[in-house]
Amino acid sequence: MTSVHANNTFDVIGRFMHMGVDPYSFVSSLTGVVAQRLLWLNCPHCVRDVTVDADLLAEADVRDPERYRFRAGAGCTQCRGTGYKGRRAVAEVLRLTDEIREMIIARASIRILKEQARKQGTRFLRDVALELVRDGQTTLQEVNRVTFVA
Ligand SMILES: [Zn+2]
Repeated sequence: MTSVHANNTFDVIGRFMHMGVDPYSFVSSLTGVVAQRLLWLNCPHCVRDVTVDADLLAEADVRDPERYRFRAGAGCTQCRGTGYKGRRAVAEVLRLTDEIREMIIARASIRILKEQARKQGTRFLRDVALELVRDGQTTLQEVNRVTFVA
């Protein structure tokens, strides 16, 4: 088990490949990659429904805003005026299946790797984080701070 600073699970693979590591020994010794981020949660004492403007929705690439309950903290003494209180981790898990291993050895593009990952059930960091926004547990701004639009 080791940790690497990277933006997501695919960057980790790219990082090692650029180090000149032999791809075959690299993928055969790797069982999986986990990426995680800590997100601030809306303060339960002052959270309320909010509207999100079109610019932010576009920036965040949210195409189904009707499925969201946008909420944010107003700021209170409990959260020292920040609107956020408490954090939780979100994670993305990439299992090194035979398909993924072969693709890495063949130096497939990130786009191809992502497609395969999605097929085998990987939920991407941003999608996991957006689910918390959908449920009103955190804000779109906070998700944009810690994850990138794919
Ligand atoms: Zn508060």
